[in-house]
Amino acid sequence: MTTPRTNFIGINVSGTQARAALVDHEGAILETTVGDVAPKQLIPQLAAMVEDLRSRQETVAAIGVAIPGLVNRQTDRVIVPRDLPSNSVNNLHGELTRATGLRVELENDANAAAYGEFKVGAGRGSRNLFYMMIGNGIGGAIILDGKLWTGASGFAGEVGHITIDTEGLECVCGNTGCLETVASAPSIVRRARERLNRDSTSSLSRLELNKSFTAEDVAHQANEGDDFALMMIERTGKYIGTGVASVINLLNIERIVLGGGVMDAGSLILNPIIHEVRRRAFQPCFEATEIVAAKLGLDAAPIGAAMLARDATTD
Ligand SMILES: [Zn+2]
Repeated sequence: MTTPRTNFIGINVSGTQARAALVDHEGAILETTVGDVAPKQLIPQLAAMVEDLRSRQETVAAIGVAIPGLVNRQTDRVIVPRDLPSNSVNNLHGELTRATGLRVELENDANAAAYGEFKVGAGRGSRNLFYMMIGNGIGGAIILDGKLWTGASGFAGEVGHITIDTEGLECVCGNTGCLETVASAPSIVRRARERLNRDSTSSLSRLELNKSFTAEDVAHQANEGDDFALMMIERTGKYIGTGVASVINLLNIERIVLGGGVMDAGSLILNPIIHEVRRRAFQPCFEATEIVAAKLGLDAAPIGAAMLARDATTD
């Protein structure tokens, strides 16, 4: 049984890094730690991070781990890992439980981040929420009536793989023209490069000569007033807004929370998203929905994972 004095640890594993947070019963961060992880050493490295945080605060009741990829919470298995070899996460739940002696809850990273925003971030005060994480990939999560709704087998919310362009490029999922193929950070860079081949007046072409630019550079140049970079960000907002309009029409959801690195462009991207949703969504649905930027940044997934561990423990 947990009490308001009990604390929880949330960890977000993303590729070669893990970010762990010790949070209190209400989701406030007490300590954080970030470390590199190697697939072959994943369990001992995560266990060491847990021990480090526990040494500072002993009253830890459970651990939540957010993983990129599809997670089946009924079986505690990572079904389709993303960015991690499957043999490194096959029995993550069992091995981490054994290594730490604590209860472990596994969840997909977008679901965990959504839960974090819902409990202590931009989703606070809502009962129904759709969260989108727009970064190297595009993930999504649905919270209905205060609970994460993960679908029949745990995979709901894969908004990055809704079709935006039926004639578009092939996606990692096998479909063509998914939202992820036009609006993720690598897709922004690809689209910008394609256009720069035709029009090299942008400051981005100078960046391209010195180093390969990133989606962050595109946003930065847009902020500096580069017309081409601004057009790329606006176009990206248009694609995301098209996806969000479909979500709103489908769910008549109370709040949309948009997070992930691509949203660091701030109002430069949020405004075209809202503009496009207004243009495309069924008007009563649009008017009933608040579209906001996420608040917790990189802490969303660790906090959310910790809160999921808390709520699983108190169930
Ligand atoms: Zn796809």
